[in-house]
Amino acid sequence: MAQPYEINVDRDMAHADALTIFINYRVLDYQGEYLGAVGVGLTVDSVQKLISHYQRRFKREVVFVDHDGQVQLSSSKAQPVGSNVRQTPGLNGIFEQIRQGKQDKVSFEYQLDGAQQLVNTRYIPELNWYLIVGQSESEATSDIRHALYLNLLLCLVVTAVVALLTHLALRRYQTRLETMATTDSLTGLPNRRAFDIVIDVFLNENRRANSSMALMVLDIDHFKSINDRLGHFGGDHVLAVTARMLKSCTRAADFVCRWGGEEFLIVIKDCDEHNAMQLAEKIRHAIENELIAYKSEQIAITASLGVAVARPGDNIHMVLERADVAMYAAKAAGRNQVHFGRV
Ligand code: GH3
Ligand code: MG
Ligand code: MG
Repeated sequence: MAQPYEINVDRDMAHADALTIFINYRVLDYQGEYLGAVGVGLTVDSVQKLISHYQRRFKREVVFVDHDGQVQLSSSKAQPVGSNVRQTPGLNGIFEQIRQGKQDKVSFEYQLDGAQQLVNTRYIPELNWYLIVGQSESEATSDIRHALYLNLLLCLVVTAVVALLTHLALRRYQTRLETMATTDSLTGLPNRRAFDIVIDVFLNENRRANSSMALMVLDIDHFKSINDRLGHFGGDHVLAVTARMLKSCTRAADFVCRWGGEEFLIVIKDCDEHNAMQLAEKIRHAIENELIAYKSEQIAITASLGVAVARPGDNIHMVLERADVAMYAAKAAGRNQVHFGRV
């Protein structure tokens, strides 16, 4: 989800001409959990073009200033990038008012060299900047109302363009980050975080449809000795092949994830005890019969599985625990077998 908090803007010093601005966002998932930080590179070329266009067409000066009054983007010769509005006669006092959060006041007037100046301002949360639109000195201010409306309109348009550009840039990064955060890079399977996100949806669907949902915990037997024999990379290869096998034994609608280490978790919707045990046995058998090629070796592995079915009123921890206890019972009983969790 797009949760652009903790915004700060850095000017891209290396590419000052390209006018790329980096905005740092804390990205949260839809449950409000922290996924990571992304720096969104916003190319403000189009904003610069837009404000230059307004300068020519409407004789309006459009200036973006940061919280300290430093000009960041400008169409104004009198107020170029790098200057500070706090040092500009007339504007300095107004900027203090803008900054102190008098949000409802967006129009200001001041005198400069005997001429009346009209200024409209808006705060742009996407950038933590202030937008200041004013008429150029050359423009006659005979029709003040007209001038004000035009200023206001330009404020709105520029703000909307900035918001849109930021949104588009952020959405691209958001999607990438969410995929990264919910996928196990070794096996390509969803990870535990992904499970946490989808399991509530599964359980609710299950409750509504009044059907049964099965859950399997699978743990590779004596994986440590596989690592000892093949080395860590060999062990990784075995995990990746196991993941592929699990995907090929299940349907697209089933949820297969890497639970951690050499443990996998499978959720099968609309599946009773009998069908779940059959499927678990099929998986166990497929793993036992596959010879995994690694370098010059052919490796045979086995796995132990614990199966449980969600009962009415169960929360996910109860089902997980029954499946886990069953998996340990399968280990204790000699490994390479499937047990069902009843208690
Ligand atoms: P058991 O039959 O009781 O499950 O024995 P085991 O050796 O499979 O179980 P144990 O939990 O003692 O060891 C699991 C090993 O898995 C230890 C750890 O180093 C290894 N492991 C965990 N994650 C990875 C990984 O991503 N890659 C590799 N190569 N090894 C991993
Ligand atoms: Mg384990
Ligand atoms: Mg193991």
